[in-house]
Amino acid sequence: MLDLAQVPVAQSLLAKHDRELDLAQKAKKNLVGLIKARCEECGRTSEFEARDAGTLQVCPHCNAYVDVPELTGEPPTPAGTRAPLDQE
Ligand SMILES: [Zn+2]
Repeated sequence: MLDLAQVPVAQSLLAKHDRELDLAQKAKKNLVGLIKARCEECGRTSEFEARDAGTLQVCPHCNAYVDVPELTGEPPTPAGTRAPLDQE
């Protein structure tokens, strides 16, 4: 007999897993690529290196300061060193 009490738990675990995968992929993409930041002064979009995330950079078009957005998601961690945050 199917134990209905287990179903929401399983669904929640699956959703969580999907979200973690999604975040990891986004973080990985950001770290190896460029971050687009829009200059509020001239309205043009420029690309900055991922390591400049969360910093102020100078717009190459008008020399105004541009706020480079923070990376979303956590940086990828090597397998086996994962902190046990998921235990409840
Ligand atoms: Zn600008």
